[in-house]
Amino acid sequence: MTWPHYVVGETERMSGLEVIAIDGPAGSGKTTIARALADRLELAYLDTGAMYRAVAFAALRAGTDLGDEVAVARTARDMGLHLDRTSCVVDGVDATLAIRGPEVTSAVSVVAAMVDVRVELVERQRNWVGERGGGVVEGRDIGSVVFPEARLKVYLTASPEVRARRRAGETGDVDVAAVAADIRRRDAADSGREASPLVEADGSVTLDTSELTVDEVVEAIVALLR
Ligand code: C5P
Repeated sequence: MTWPHYVVGETERMSGLEVIAIDGPAGSGKTTIARALADRLELAYLDTGAMYRAVAFAALRAGTDLGDEVAVARTARDMGLHLDRTSCVVDGVDATLAIRGPEVTSAVSVVAAMVDVRVELVERQRNWVGERGGGVVEGRDIGSVVFPEARLKVYLTASPEVRARRRAGETGDVDVAAVAADIRRRDAADSGREASPLVEADGSVTLDTSELTVDEVVEAIVALLR
C-alpha cells in the first residue's frame, strides 16, 4: 500500500479510557497512521492540528490582528468548532478546505505558539476524549502535555525528503522544494517555541516511517500495544 491511503483492518476492541498519542512533525505520517490505527482499534480519532488550524481560520476571517495574543486567545475561546473526519465547521462556516490552504498554513504556527490559545484547545481536547472514553489523538504535544499518562505514546518521524514528498502528494502541490521549505519553517517554529514545543515525550516510542508502508507502521504500533 502506498501513502497516504490507509487500511481498515481487523478490529480490536479496547476497554477503559484508552488514549494513544501520536506526535511528530509535519509529513511524518501522523494523520494517515492515526486514522488507520483508530479504525483498527475502533477508537475515536482526533486531529488536534485541525483545531489549531481552525483558530487560525477564525482569526483570519474575523480580521483579528495575529500579533495580538489577547485577541487571538479570545477568538479561540469564542470559536464554535465542529470537527469530524471529513469536515471542519468553524462558527457555522465550512472551513474543511480553507484550513489546509496556504493562508491558514502560514498563520497556524503563530497562533499555536500562544499559551492561552493552547490552554483553551488542550481543555477541549481533554473533554473530547473524556466524553468518548479514549481515542487516538494526533498532534505535537499529546504525549508530552495533553495526555502524559496515555497508554501508548508514539513519536513518528521520516526523512525531510519523504515528508516533503508526502505533503506535496496530499495537497497536490507540484513545487516539492517550496513544500520542503514550508515544512522546515513550521518545524523550526513548532520545535523552537516556548509553549509546549514539539518534543519526543518521556516514555514515547519513536518510529521512523520513511521506509515503511502504512500497514507496517500500524502493525508495529499494534504490536507495541500487545
Ligand atoms: O498537524 P498539522 O500540520 O495540521 O498542524 C498544524 C500546526 O498546528 C502545527 O504546525 C503546529 O504549529 C500546530 N499544532 C500544535 N500542537 C498540536 C497540533 C498542531 O502546536 N497538538
